[in-house]
Amino acid sequence: MNNKLQKNKDFSELPGSAALKRIVLLSTGGTIASAPGRDGRAVAGVLSGEALLAHTGLDGLMQASVESVFQKASNAIGATEWRQLAERCTQLIDSKKIDGIVVTHGTDTLEDTAYYLHCVLDTADVPVVVTGSQRVPQAMGSDAYANLRQAMELAASPHARGLGVLVSFNQSVFSAGFVRKVSSYQLHGFDAPGLGPIGMLDEGGFQLLQRPVMQKRLPNPAQLPRVDILPAYGGAEAEMARAVLQSAPDALVVDGLGRGQVPLAWAPVLAEALEKGAIIAVCSSTLHGATHESYDYPGSLHELINAGAFNVSHLSARKARIRLALSMAAYGKNISAIAAAFNW
Ligand code: ASP
Repeated sequence: MNNKLQKNKDFSELPGSAALKRIVLLSTGGTIASAPGRDGRAVAGVLSGEALLAHTGLDGLMQASVESVFQKASNAIGATEWRQLAERCTQLIDSKKIDGIVVTHGTDTLEDTAYYLHCVLDTADVPVVVTGSQRVPQAMGSDAYANLRQAMELAASPHARGLGVLVSFNQSVFSAGFVRKVSSYQLHGFDAPGLGPIGMLDEGGFQLLQRPVMQKRLPNPAQLPRVDILPAYGGAEAEMARAVLQSAPDALVVDGLGRGQVPLAWAPVLAEALEKGAIIAVCSSTLHGATHESYDYPGSLHELINAGAFNVSHLSARKARIRLALSMAAYGKNISAIAAAFNW
C-alpha cells in the first residue's frame, strides 16, 4: 500500500486507496497560505495548498486533491469569488466522487465566505469545512497546519454531513450561520457569541454536541445586487445616513442599536427612504439576541417596521447583507418573500 498522503486530481484508481476518504482542498489564500515578504511582513496567499498539506501528517490517512482557486488576502474576496467558489463546490458535490471539501481562507472575511456557501450549498452528502489560521505557517506555535489537519478530519467525518457549512478553528467546530471572528490575533480567533461551538475536534475525532438550525437554501446567482451596511452608533448625524442612501444601494442593512433602534437623527431620513420604496433590513449590532418591537418612540424598531422596514434576528449585519443580496437575486423586490428567506 502506498503510505503517502495520496494526491490525485480525480481520485482515479490509486493503489490501496478504496477505503480512504477523498477530500478536496480548495485553497484561496490568507495568512494560512502566507510567506514572509521582503521586510518580514506576511504576504497572504503565497503558499500553495500542496505545501500546506505536506505538513499535516495525514500521510496514508486520506486521499487529498488540491486546487488553488485563488491566492488572495481575504480583503480581496467578495461576490465574484463567492460565486466561483460555490460553483466549484457544487460541481464537486454533484460529481458524487468525493467525501468532503475543505476551503482554506484568510480569517478577516472568512465568516462572509463561509456564510455565503452556507446559504447556497447542499451539504447533505458532502461536508464543506472552512478554515484558516491566525499565525503564519512559519511562526512559532503556528495554528496553520493544525487547523488544516483538523478541517480535513472534519470534512472526512460522516457526522459532519447535513450540518450546513462548518468553520473549523482551534479544535472548535462552528456553524457558518453564527460564527464570527472574535480576536484579531489570538489562536481562538472564532466563536459563535452566545451559542458556542456545535462540536469539537479532539484526537482526530469529531464530536457533534448540538445541531444548528438552518435557513432555507437559496440559489447561487450570476449577479448579486448591491447591499450596503449602515452601522448605528450613539450621536450619529443625519448626514451619514443620507450619504449612504444617496449613493443608491439596491438595499440597506441597518446594523441597529440593541433590539433594533436607530439614532434619533436617522429616523426621518430612513422613513423618507422607505416611503420612496427603499428596501431596509434592521438587525442588531449586539453579539447575541433577537431584534424585537419592544419600544415605541422615534427611531424605535417598531416605528421603522411601520414605515416599511423588516427586522432580522440572530444574524450579524455582514451575514444579513449576504442573505438579503441572495434573496433579492432570487425574489426581486418581493418584500414578503425576502423577509421569509430569513426565517429559521
Ligand atoms: N489578513 C489576513 C487575511 O484575511 C488574515 C488571515 O488570514 O488570518 O487574509
